[in-house]
Amino acid sequence: MSRIVYVNGSYVPTSEAYVHINDRGYQFADGVYEGVSVRGGKTIDLEPHLDRLWRSMTELDMSAPMGRAPMRLVLKEVIRRNRVADGFLYLQVTRGEAVRDHAFPEVSIPSFVVTCRRLSFDAVRARAAKGVAASTQPDIRWGRCDIKSTSLLPNILAKQAAREAGAFEAVLVDKDGFVTEGSSTNIWIVTKDGKLQTRTIEDNILAGITRARVKTIAEGLQMAVEEGRFTVEDAKDAQEMFFTSSTSCAMPIVELDGQKIGDGTPGPVAQRLIDAYFSYTDD
Ligand code: PMP
Repeated sequence: MSRIVYVNGSYVPTSEAYVHINDRGYQFADGVYEGVSVRGGKTIDLEPHLDRLWRSMTELDMSAPMGRAPMRLVLKEVIRRNRVADGFLYLQVTRGEAVRDHAFPEVSIPSFVVTCRRLSFDAVRARAAKGVAASTQPDIRWGRCDIKSTSLLPNILAKQAAREAGAFEAVLVDKDGFVTEGSSTNIWIVTKDGKLQTRTIEDNILAGITRARVKTIAEGLQMAVEEGRFTVEDAKDAQEMFFTSSTSCAMPIVELDGQKIGDGTPGPVAQRLIDAYFSYTDD
């Protein structure tokens, strides 16, 4: 079955979906995006994702392509037309088409694209049951990683370097040796004394929606959560390590740069969080 996507007012098969070659998203990565998971036909944490999308657009002085209410309808319709029960909904807004010039055009109509593909959460859970390897990579990104911009070259390069090192995810490390986040995930550790730690969102990282949800879940389970900095050595010394994102939920990292984390298998804290996260859906 051909996928149906939404592009600037129309629902069309992917093969008929186009944006203009002068679109600033194509030329400058002058765009923002969101990735939302869909489980049992329902979105997970849609409202916080829309809050973050609006925040990203506002920070870049970009107009919204439509209001939130019609946007919700478009998203629902893309899920429906693709008959997706479990999947990944992708939304992208760019500043739109304009004659190439770095400065913002005086007038431009934002371009809005929505796609939805199937994603097996059974496969995600199967991966989580084994855990994954990660590889540290230098964080060479810009100073506004709080904006969810499509400008992702440093993230792509880090992920590729990790894959070439035989790892699944890159753990980004700042100049002072502290872990910031993953190439497309937030990183967590469980310290020797059982505390959950993750980097504060003030420190030039993306405020992950799954990070926030997992934090709420952990606190609800009476787990101690501390936002702060930890080094690569702290991570290697931790009982457990995992990353969070909309598509990976809470994914145990069982090896970092070839060194086992804990006993080299997924730990009980991550497993409890995964179970709790999978029973959460939007109302
Ligand atoms: N950090 C970065 C750099 C990301 O790209 C992502 C996912 N897009 C995340 C963290 C996780 O965010 P979320 O939980 O909202 O998917």
